[in-house]
Amino acid sequence: MAYSGMLPATVAGHYARHEMQVDIGRLARLAQVKRYRTRVTQIDAIARTITRADGTRQCYDLLALNIGAVPRSIAGDHHAHVVPAKPVTALWRGLSATERRLDATDRALEIAVIGGGTGGVELALALAYRWRHRRPAPRIALYHRGDALLGRGERAAAAVLADALFDAGIARHGGTTIARITPGTIASADGREFVADAVFVATGAAVLPGLGMRGLARDERGFIRVNTRLQGVDAPGVFAAGDIASLPVPRPKSGVYAVRAAPVLADNLERAATGRPLREFRAQRRALALIGLGTRRAVAARSWPLAPTGYAVWRLKQAIDKRFIARYHAGEIARIMHRSGV
Ligand SMILES: Cc1cc2nc3c(=O)[nH]c(=O)nc-3n(C[C@H](O)[C@H](O)[C@H](O)COP(=O)(O)OP(=O)(O)OC[C@H]3O[C@@H](n4cnc5c(N)ncnc54)[C@H](O)[C@@H]3O)c2cc1C
Repeated sequence: MAYSGMLPATVAGHYARHEMQVDIGRLARLAQVKRYRTRVTQIDAIARTITRADGTRQCYDLLALNIGAVPRSIAGDHHAHVVPAKPVTALWRGLSATERRLDATDRALEIAVIGGGTGGVELALALAYRWRHRRPAPRIALYHRGDALLGRGERAAAAVLADALFDAGIARHGGTTIARITPGTIASADGREFVADAVFVATGAAVLPGLGMRGLARDERGFIRVNTRLQGVDAPGVFAAGDIASLPVPRPKSGVYAVRAAPVLADNLERAATGRPLREFRAQRRALALIGLGTRRAVAARSWPLAPTGYAVWRLKQAIDKRFIARYHAGEIARIMHRSGV
């Protein structure tokens, strides 16, 4: 499983792909958890069953959903030249296909990146850095709905990112809601058309299509509504955390909240199984985002009036990411389990 915090830097080439991977298989074996390598296609919270892609069903007493989110869909985004930022396997597949096309042509291909949030901007900058020596140089353009990058209240960091895009030669089309993708072009809601040989999509968060759910209250975007104990509001046997969960007080879809919720989720599963009172998850109001600029520089965003930027911020991000991923190396987990007598 990939750690998305290191994804843009891996796309840029600062890490090898294996460095951002967590070996779920080994961790499951260590924890003696039975692992199914399959997609869940249906969740029935009334019958208390899940259905796997091969049609087999499984009953549950307690269910924890941590299935994340994918970019919001745009009409026509099923075309072969469209590359979603998530799932990560789809991103790598699409990136390889795009690079095969770059190798096969002596024309400068037009690359569109859709989405002006952290994911889209970081991805565009990472692609520009990855392809910096390619000739002819691909022409990258970033399309985003509002006039400003990032969310409201991030003016300082948005200004740094706008400069970084300019320096990297990435054209920026603000106020451009892309409403349709066709082979070779993308079109905005107000009828403008742009050439796009490949389209990378990082358009916020949506529930993975093709997943049926029954008996689960969901918010207007389809995410599962949970209470402060991460429990489905009308399905006490179902817990959810991370991007798929819609918290009582909404929070951005960010790995920070997913990671912080995980220990509470694990604890509450045990408490629910043993009939003890559940713990509350108090999601912090704001999270620090360290956003890579493609090069070995990053900008820190936390709605501050100033946005610290540079190599030191990149080193901080690198240290945090490396420490995070190291915690999930099977050797480290085995050592912790051994020390705590598990
Ligand atoms: C380019 C990019 C960069 C990002 N960088 C950062 C960052 O630096 N910091 C940060 O905090 N956040 C970052 N994010 C956001 C972050 O990726 C998410 O908020 C975080 O991954 C959410 O964690 P999660 O566990 O909820 O879901 P995910 O990490 O998305 O994991 C979901 C898992 O569930 C599996 N799954 C999904 N559906 C099914 C199904 N039906 N059946 C079985 N399995 C299923 C998936 O295969 C996946 O393994 C970034 C996102 C993107 C796109």
